[in-house]
Amino acid sequence: MTKNNIKAHILGYPRVGAKRELKFALESFWRKEVSSDDLQNTAKNLRAEHWQKQQEAGLAFITSNDFSLYDHVLDHSVLFGAQPKRFNKKPFGEANPAPENAYFALARGNLEQPAMEMTKWFDTNYHYIVPELASDTQFSINVHDFLSQLDEAQKISKNVKPVLLGPVSFLYLSKARGINKLDLLDGLAQQYVYLLQELQLRKIEWLQVDEPIFALDLDDAWLKAFDHAYSWFRTSRPKLLLTTYFANVSRYQAFITNLPVDGIHIDLVRAPEQLGPWVNAIPSHWVISAGVIDGRNIWRNDLDKTLALLDPWVKRLGDRLWIAPSCSLLHTPVTLAHEVKLDAEIKSWLAFADEKIIELSIIAKALNNGVDSVAQELAISRAAIASRNQSNRVHDANVKARIAALNTLNENRESTFELRAKAQKARLNLPLLPTTTIGSFPQTPDIRAARAAYKKGDISQAKYDAEMEAHIAYAIAQQEEIGLDVLVHGEAERNDMVEFFGEQLAGYAFTQNGWVQSYGSRCVKPPVIYGDVHRPKAMTVGTASFAQSLSSRPVKGMLTGPITILQWSFVRDDQPRETTAMQLALAIRDEVEDLQKAGIAIIQIDEPALREGLPLQKAAWAQYLAWAVKAFKLSASIARDDTQIHTHMCYAEFNDILPAIAAMDADVITIETSRSAMELLDAFGEFSYPNDIGPGVYDIHSPRVPSVEAMEKLMKRAFDVVPIERLWINPDCGLKTRGWPETKTALENMVTVAKSLREQL
Ligand code: GLN
Ligand code: ZN
Repeated sequence: MTKNNIKAHILGYPRVGAKRELKFALESFWRKEVSSDDLQNTAKNLRAEHWQKQQEAGLAFITSNDFSLYDHVLDHSVLFGAQPKRFNKKPFGEANPAPENAYFALARGNLEQPAMEMTKWFDTNYHYIVPELASDTQFSINVHDFLSQLDEAQKISKNVKPVLLGPVSFLYLSKARGINKLDLLDGLAQQYVYLLQELQLRKIEWLQVDEPIFALDLDDAWLKAFDHAYSWFRTSRPKLLLTTYFANVSRYQAFITNLPVDGIHIDLVRAPEQLGPWVNAIPSHWVISAGVIDGRNIWRNDLDKTLALLDPWVKRLGDRLWIAPSCSLLHTPVTLAHEVKLDAEIKSWLAFADEKIIELSIIAKALNNGVDSVAQELAISRAAIASRNQSNRVHDANVKARIAALNTLNENRESTFELRAKAQKARLNLPLLPTTTIGSFPQTPDIRAARAAYKKGDISQAKYDAEMEAHIAYAIAQQEEIGLDVLVHGEAERNDMVEFFGEQLAGYAFTQNGWVQSYGSRCVKPPVIYGDVHRPKAMTVGTASFAQSLSSRPVKGMLTGPITILQWSFVRDDQPRETTAMQLALAIRDEVEDLQKAGIAIIQIDEPALREGLPLQKAAWAQYLAWAVKAFKLSASIARDDTQIHTHMCYAEFNDILPAIAAMDADVITIETSRSAMELLDAFGEFSYPNDIGPGVYDIHSPRVPSVEAMEKLMKRAFDVVPIERLWINPDCGLKTRGWPETKTALENMVTVAKSLREQL
């Protein structure tokens, strides 16, 4: 058998550290508890560790310059000298002169300047700092930090592959008010050329150039921009591996194969079908990096399946075949090594970044030296895959039977909104412009201390429950004093709106250290849906009934919707997302039914993450929205006419998905509108959104108490857009990050607005 030399590499490694070392170092530095040297040492140690892991696994390269103290896109703004000019002046009173402070000011703001904007990185939960460009942006490269990290790597290995975000994606992902971004392209591409020359001097053989925007719908102007920018790269330089991920990029094939690069990376987890067409299309000197390990999820790879996918092409490509994870491992947790509480069987089904690197090396060995060389590793993997496929902890016949019978359920409410509204009016008898809140009240230090004590086992379940009831009673009393019309219990017992439900649903597992960077030092620990989901028993009925027993006004039952639970969890890869969504929908539906039986008249099903689930390519939107809306409707349609269903959405533009939002047919939707001065509401007006709307009048992200005048002005703006009989008055979102004093004053002002408007009408 001939031996191959197929290269294994990764596109990037998570930065936070197995125990979130970077997070803690950053936050200590920001609190001025540690020095800039301490911070830099933590970062340096992490990088060394990451490289060592890659080296030990026998990867062909160690990947450098994927690290960042805050965000890699921000690092590119700095690398190319494109910091917004508004930060040039050192703010008066700046106390900490550490050089890092100028950098963190960009991401977090300083005494004089608000931070640069942040937005979601494609369809991930990672957020990047949006480059802020202007007509007078003059790129000028600042190579020091980049090269010093490269030096560090080159001390560890002679096979270093640095990573850069490509010029066209950088520009595309930036914002530039008042100018055509493409006018800045030449200036930017020239700086890349300078960097390429530096890398050439350092004998770098391969540079990874990420151009993730190929996952999006690109128009001609942007495609031409690639031609244009990359024509600058026809110089003496390292070889370029053009990396794409998150989607099938074959539609740009004719175009991409004409770019002066030396290979392409493609995502074969999201789009395995693109391998053949790419092998057939690439120029004869190109390599193809096959992204076969899921960089977006936490499941162990089915090595046999991966080998079968690659097998037909191995002979043909020989050493021109590389293997890699589908995308950077930034989106996965670091290691399973510290998961001591996780059930052993479930753990055997998982692979975090470190385990994925090992899988990669096994695949490389199998391809290079034959499967017999890794027989034992393959056997272990096979056993784990078989156990997951067959386990009755994954597969629940009852759940599957309910899913099979889905079409026997009516996903629509019994009557039209008009008739329902009448029934609800008769039951609830609410005033015009009813006032309410979105669900959570301040999560005070008391509440958090009680939860921490309970989790540690320091206080009993009974004691914990009693404390939570006291907080609920307090929230109800406060709301009655404030004079709100529709109350909430305040969500004291919930740490997180997804975890709270996940903990009570079958099919869910929780990790101790499965952290993934969301932005800067902020990490999230998504729960893992590993099996068929169902609700063994009622989840919220006890608290909801307790809260309702304390007041004669309606208290809303509070649920998280199926799509939001889905979006904020690690999801099964052995069935379509849609199927998991339907299972979640049935679980929520069961809860709606029980709440209704317990006499709860208003039930809110939050779906703040509905929009984030949108696929990257527009052509796939309709299909996603169809099942997402169906899932929501299934969860709500068990409600009787006189049970009022609310939903809530935030952080979103709504224009392009309004038909879907309307199709959800919630009786009332509350949305975030105050920061846009009600602009976000316009779309609802133009669309003639048919049901009730509560446009947020109070920006809960700020401790500032909004004035009566400001909120009244916002409501009057809303009157121009939505008929008064269909408007509610409420804050933008939940109040859990706020304190009680400011919350109380703000809500009192809000109630004053409602009363004064009612009088004026
Ligand atoms: N009901 C939740 C709360 O008030 C909604 C949170 C959200 O929209 N993200 O906290
Ligand atoms: Zn919200």
